[in-house]
Amino acid sequence: MPGLSCYELRSEFPELERGVVYLDNAASTLKPRRVVEAMREFSYRSYANVHRGVHRLSIEASKAYEEAQDVVARLVGGSWDEVVFTRNTTEAMQLAALTLAYNGLLRGGEVLVTAGDHHSTLLPWVRAARLGGGRARILPLDGRGVPRWDLLDDYVTEDTRVVAVGHVSNVTGAVAPVEDVVRAARRVSALVVLDSAQGVPHLPVDFRRMGVDMAAFSGHKMLGPTGIGVLWARRDLLEELEPPLGGGGTVSRVRLKGGSVEIEWEEPPWKFEAGTPPIIEAVGLAEAAEMLMEIGMERVAEHEDELTGYTMKLLEPLYREGLIRYVGPDNPGERHGIVSITTHLKSPDELGLLLDRKGIAVRTGLHCAHILHDHVGASTGSVRASFYIYNCKEDAERLAEALEEILTTRR
Ligand code: PMP
Repeated sequence: MPGLSCYELRSEFPELERGVVYLDNAASTLKPRRVVEAMREFSYRSYANVHRGVHRLSIEASKAYEEAQDVVARLVGGSWDEVVFTRNTTEAMQLAALTLAYNGLLRGGEVLVTAGDHHSTLLPWVRAARLGGGRARILPLDGRGVPRWDLLDDYVTEDTRVVAVGHVSNVTGAVAPVEDVVRAARRVSALVVLDSAQGVPHLPVDFRRMGVDMAAFSGHKMLGPTGIGVLWARRDLLEELEPPLGGGGTVSRVRLKGGSVEIEWEEPPWKFEAGTPPIIEAVGLAEAAEMLMEIGMERVAEHEDELTGYTMKLLEPLYREGLIRYVGPDNPGERHGIVSITTHLKSPDELGLLLDRKGIAVRTGLHCAHILHDHVGASTGSVRASFYIYNCKEDAERLAEALEEILTTRR
């Protein structure tokens, strides 16, 4: 399989013409022309509200919207009616957690999360577990900030109702052993919910084959627009569960009977999409997913692995001299597409600002993973470089040169 040509891809991303070395992809990726054009074209020619209105524009818009669900489903291994569009990963996770709580599936039991999870996973599940009269159990981390997956079998018990964990850490880049998680959960008939915000954009995934029950991800982290995320869930689950949010689009019929309101829910995915959904954004996300499938997710993953390894090789002298420390594994083979560091010489924000002066965009701070940072002794945060398809080796070289200059120049 030929490698991915980052050089050819770069012309698709006008923002790169500003000369910035963009290494903030775990926060949000840049937008290719074809995604912006698809949204523009749809807005100018076919836009109307969806939900199968009778006029031609609404029919066209509904078709485009449902096609977008189908394209996204193809990317993650499911069917179109398993794709619920939300606002982002955070909202998708809240929807998953509230749905299970609302349907009594958490009652008196435990939800297993890890101490390394993003707040978008941690907070909805901790709160939903409490709402269900149960509690969250927290899988601890090792010294590198990676969950102690070796303890899974002790932490998943007869009380476990759900295992809700991150697929790829947005801080350490460590990939969860999803097969082991699914096996442990199946043993006690618990559901597996995956925060795949850093998974779907970067790795080949097939949720059905992986045995996952629900998964969440965001459009803006995979070349798509902001304002759209996805909750993917097994069709039979969506069918049997009542949505926690009601409203326009979720019902096929509402009647007043004997003084009470009787509700007939729509089919999935509509019964989970309350109110007008992100229609233009769905068209943009579908274009982004098409582009990723054309490139091939194996190639995307290989390219990012190569850049991760190359960056860590370039940073080796700074690491050996003790000028930087990694948050997460110091073996590049154990992290995917993300290199987070700390240094005793500068605060994360200070280092980020100095890198910005050299035209390098990285993310600094606690990356919505406070417990993880506290655990590894980095309670003021870290500096994170994260890669995507349009990053080339030169970007890693610019980062390493800049870090060396900043951290080794005596003042
Ligand atoms: N989970 C992970 C692992 C993430 O990296 C992020 C984004 N930083 C989120 C959840 C939240 O995504 P969003 O802000 O799009 O809801």
